[in-house]
Amino acid sequence: MPALATLDRARLVTIMEREQQTFVEAHPRSGALYERARGSLLGGVPMPWMVKWPGAFPPFVDFAEGAHFRCVDGHEYVDFCLGDTGAMAGHGAAPTVAAVERQLRRGITHMLPTEDAAWVGEELQRRFGLAYWQFAVTATDANRFSIRLARMVTGRPLIAVHDFNYHGTVDETFAWLADDGRVEARRGNIGPPVDPALTTRVVPFNDAPALDAALADGRVAALLIEPALTNVGIVLPEPGYHDAVRAITRRTGTLLIIDETHTICAGPGGATAQWRLEPDVLVIGKTIGGGIPAAAYGLSQAVADAVAGAMSLEDADVGGIGGTLAGYALSLAAIRATLGEVLTEAAFARMIPLAGRWAEGAREIIASRHLPWHVTRLGARAEYHFMANPPRTGREQWDHGDFELERFLHLYALNRGVLMTPFHNMALMSPATTDADVDRHSQVFADAVDELFG
Ligand code: PMP
Repeated sequence: MPALATLDRARLVTIMEREQQTFVEAHPRSGALYERARGSLLGGVPMPWMVKWPGAFPPFVDFAEGAHFRCVDGHEYVDFCLGDTGAMAGHGAAPTVAAVERQLRRGITHMLPTEDAAWVGEELQRRFGLAYWQFAVTATDANRFSIRLARMVTGRPLIAVHDFNYHGTVDETFAWLADDGRVEARRGNIGPPVDPALTTRVVPFNDAPALDAALADGRVAALLIEPALTNVGIVLPEPGYHDAVRAITRRTGTLLIIDETHTICAGPGGATAQWRLEPDVLVIGKTIGGGIPAAAYGLSQAVADAVAGAMSLEDADVGGIGGTLAGYALSLAAIRATLGEVLTEAAFARMIPLAGRWAEGAREIIASRHLPWHVTRLGARAEYHFMANPPRTGREQWDHGDFELERFLHLYALNRGVLMTPFHNMALMSPATTDADVDRHSQVFADAVDELFG
């Protein structure tokens, strides 16, 4: 066996400086827009995390279509970020655009249901198996509302989550396990309203005994999980883990909320359908509106019955589950078109093999260069990790993160027309992605690695 390649940090810094220079020189218009935006936007960007793009500033977008976009400097890119899943349907999918255009002329929002609402409820029921559905504007909101319902139904105060979870900006979830096993606010948690240790129990992924211990005293209303972690790097469940999760949550009377916002990549009914999971509540956001703000949460028959018995007619509008634009006509038109005509079974049958091709391409490069890395795939999503074996927990994945290396690989790709998600090394396929797009990534990844380890 040849020795594994080792990373030369000094070389990384040198090539990174060259790539930074290349990026700035190739993007004068984006640079000028960024300078202008710094005068009115905090940090020069509309959202705090937009500073995470690997160049000195983000490329400003001129036009996006399908799996591609063009920046204001005229460069074309293959988009494997796809709005961190918000554009998984592809940019401007024709059926979604047509439905949205139609709805724009028929009333955007009226606080009244449209026929689309009933169609979408039935389709979500068919895909995910949950009996009753409600809508929210974002996945964050859908998670927050699910947690409220769980507290109401169980009469319990706490929630439990996986270590290194991400479920949107839900206060209770911004917790992790400190080295001594205590729950604390995770690094970067901005202004927590209360100490998360007061609201939240945290358990490592794939650790059924820890989950058992966390739920044993019957004070936890709900366990909120992604069926595979996707927000620290993909961490897949070990065989039997989900059976244990379901058995423990049932035994302790804890509701199981599964957040499929990213894991919808596993198939048309997400990991829930693919792995035959049985959540009490299911959350899905981002993808389903094809880019129009939309999210939904589904309740089992038992949870729906308990909710119906507990909510009063008079107070239905002030219970803390709301959003004037939640389930508004435009978003339901977008969901109907996106689920009905874009993110179909046939589309997944194309997208999943494409992610397989992407993963095989990366695997071949990693193996032939003897890198101590590996590739994980979940349906239409794939990712390379800077560790030789798949991580079992979020902590293991986090400990092998390498922000500097990640930024280099992403910038190298960006400079050659390939956009990766700016968080870890994730790539997502859309129905519009092609073999040629995937092969372009493989080529660029091989060139980056060869320069770095040369
Ligand atoms: N749940 C999961 C699993 C997510 O990955 C995200 C966003 N990355 C969210 C919820 C929140 O989505 P949004 O920011 O659209 O509310």
